[in-house]
Amino acid sequence: MTTPARRQYLRIKSEHEDAILLFRMGDFYETFDDDARIIARELEISLTSREFGSSSRVPLAGIPYHALESYLARLIRKGYKVAICEQTSESSRSQKGPVDREVVRVVTPGTIVEDSLLEGKANNYLSAAVTEGDFAGFAYVDITTSEYAATQIPIAELPVELARLSPAELLVPESSDPVDVDARTVVASVGDDSFDLEWATETLMRHFGVSSLEAFGCDRLPLATRAAGAVIDYLASTQRSAAAQLTTLRTYSTELHMVLDPQTRRNLELFEGGRWGDRSSSLLSALDRTRTPMGGRRLRAWVGQPLLDLSELNRRQDAVEWFHRSSLRRERVLALLDMVSDIQRLLNRIRGFGASPRDLVSLAASLEAAPHLKEILSEDEDACRVASLAEGIRDTTQVVALIRDAISDDPPLATGDGKVIRHGFSPEMDRVRDSARSAQQYIAQMESRERERTGIKSLKVGYNKVFGYYIEISNANLKMAPDDYVRRQTLVGGERFITPEMKEYESRILTAQDRMSDIESDLFRQVCSQVGEYAREIAATADAMADVDVFCSLAEVAARNGYIRPELSDSDAIRIRQGRHPVVERALGAGEFVPNDTELSCESGQLAIITGPNMAGKSTYIRQVAILALMAQIGSFVPAQSAEIGLVDRIFSRVGLQDDLALGQSTFMVEMVETASILNHATRRSLIILDEIGRGTSTFDGLAIARSVAEYIHSHPSLGCKTLFATHYHELTELADYLPRARNFNVAVSEDRGEIVFLRRIVPGGADRSYGIHVAKIAGMPAAVVNRAWEALGALEDAGGRPYSNGRSGSRRAAEHSKSAQLALIPMSSPALDELKRLDVASMTPIEAINKLYELQEQAKKVDT
Ligand code: ADP
Repeated sequence: MTTPARRQYLRIKSEHEDAILLFRMGDFYETFDDDARIIARELEISLTSREFGSSSRVPLAGIPYHALESYLARLIRKGYKVAICEQTSESSRSQKGPVDREVVRVVTPGTIVEDSLLEGKANNYLSAAVTEGDFAGFAYVDITTSEYAATQIPIAELPVELARLSPAELLVPESSDPVDVDARTVVASVGDDSFDLEWATETLMRHFGVSSLEAFGCDRLPLATRAAGAVIDYLASTQRSAAAQLTTLRTYSTELHMVLDPQTRRNLELFEGGRWGDRSSSLLSALDRTRTPMGGRRLRAWVGQPLLDLSELNRRQDAVEWFHRSSLRRERVLALLDMVSDIQRLLNRIRGFGASPRDLVSLAASLEAAPHLKEILSEDEDACRVASLAEGIRDTTQVVALIRDAISDDPPLATGDGKVIRHGFSPEMDRVRDSARSAQQYIAQMESRERERTGIKSLKVGYNKVFGYYIEISNANLKMAPDDYVRRQTLVGGERFITPEMKEYESRILTAQDRMSDIESDLFRQVCSQVGEYAREIAATADAMADVDVFCSLAEVAARNGYIRPELSDSDAIRIRQGRHPVVERALGAGEFVPNDTELSCESGQLAIITGPNMAGKSTYIRQVAILALMAQIGSFVPAQSAEIGLVDRIFSRVGLQDDLALGQSTFMVEMVETASILNHATRRSLIILDEIGRGTSTFDGLAIARSVAEYIHSHPSLGCKTLFATHYHELTELADYLPRARNFNVAVSEDRGEIVFLRRIVPGGADRSYGIHVAKIAGMPAAVVNRAWEALGALEDAGGRPYSNGRSGSRRAAEHSKSAQLALIPMSSPALDELKRLDVASMTPIEAINKLYELQEQAKKVDT
């Protein structure tokens, strides 16, 4: 026989088979059967068992309800889906059978709302993608901020959008092919029906209460509509309250944005430093001095999506410049922003009725900063540059007043004990609270009254959860207890009593407290819903504040590091004087970075070939150019003396030798795939940076590929785009001899008695040699190896083995090194040599000398064999 509770459990579980079901039973969330085994293992909690009626025992593992958040975090991080089943009726009201229970939320990586599971300065996106033919529909939502958007793009751009947003979860139709996503994204297959066009259209129209999707701009974008519909459909089954808060859908086009493919994002280290994957050495961290999570999220979004829209960029630059002009202004704004919390997420919690009383107080405090910000943004004659920001900050004084009137200054985390609602806000609340308080006071005063009445000085009035209020008398005084004292509990040293009067006041207190708690939570909900009525104003204000935060942060970074406002245009040129790499500069410390110039344009210096030894600074330089263009196109100032940036539609990069082991591809294969993608997608307006193409294969192959790639970019009619090509193959310098728009540059080094000194300066002209052996020497290779390498190099070059000879003959270069090559015949250190050094030749007889010479020769022969 299974019990009703077990039957109820099995029924609910059957509806959520793919999730771990947390089944609320009193103070615990229990799991049973396989779920129990899983959570016991994953959360390292004990696995027990429980008997349901006379049926056999089933495995059980539970977590205390108050610890839900931390356990939930661990399960979600491990990739589980969790269904939370709450008790939805009081046990007393449904005496027959178990209490009612219902799954209120299914938590997945893309639908978490708990602050502790979210990163403040990053969005947490749930996304959906569907493809058909050559196109893809893509939609995403952040349910903690209600950002909801959809687009329709060529299928090749889907990875770009996925890399840009790095969603926590991606929904795809069951029947679709696997999609490549980064490690952060969990892919969830949902029924194809969710992506059905008719179904999706109806779902969206019903959701927004409209009869056409025209207003959202997706009526003619069937794939975007399908993806957007799947998102709503999924939320309806996992997070209903979140779906309800999505009041609008933005259809966007990727055409107005610079395209950055996943490898370029990685190579330019926009969000994470490459070497150790740490964030502290990313471009974002170099630019981020935002004070609010909203500003942090916005800056991250901007860095991930530079613009092609000149007028919007000018607007952004104007705003940065306005803040840049006055450090006092920045200080005042930053001080105000420090008072501002995450208004977007607060508002969402308040509207979804998941807010705590403290959230309301934080919202009020944040909005109180708004008028002061607005004042600063409008106070000088130059403020037209930030007029749209000032306009964005709406009048929210009524919301602030409402919250301040209703909620006490320092409320507890939850309603229930009468401390949330401010005195004077609700006469009824005050009355009930007063009566609870006066009854409590009455009981509190009982102690002194009863002491007086009984003459027992040690008499105590106390309270415990089981027995309620009591009077405690020690054994020695028991005989003095009056007749109306009724015994309740016997202790070791005394007895506890109650009196009828005490009982009466106790029940008054309890009724008043119940009532107070009900009224308080009603009032709290009312206030939340009233605040929700101002959602538009609050959201607009939050939006403007996020912008202010970003502009102020960019200005602050510019001021601290000496950045300048770049000149933006539609030209195809990039001219930078004394540019610096913002991240490397920061790592090296003030004054250590050597600035460099850049001059690139499609008409003249289109293909810059940068040669120089390893470690000279080639990679740093080519990335620096790309990063400066990117910074300029988010509206930021750039580290340079002056900069003219003709807007770039895409940045492509192929940098370094990275093994993509996760994808099971060899280094060389990855390199070729990425290079092919660049050649297939670049346009004349793109900027390409290539680092050491062709290194992953033999020298001949590699050089051949490098050369033909460079020629293709230079001469193909649909390319011809600005390109920086860093290579240690100095043979490539001869490209400049026959490609009219190719220019040679090298990173200057000076040579001092065989040692090279890196000058980090980019100078015109090609490097005439590789310096590989110099670098090996600096790296600490044994001298014998270095010398042998010189020798081998000479031999190779003499044999004419040098590929693509550029006229500088191998033998000339061998001659340069012949001296060192000869020296190398005598090893720098060996036992024979050491002994030779120690000999005191002057004191030797000729015969001794001959013998020693013979002995040394024998030793040397041994070394040779
Ligand atoms: P390459 O690509 O030529 O092998 P990198 O670009 O990796 O060399 O540079 C090697 C190191 O040199 C960098 O880690 C950096 O510390 C330093 N460096 C590069 N460029 C500069 C510069 N302009 N000023 C100062 N140091 C630099």
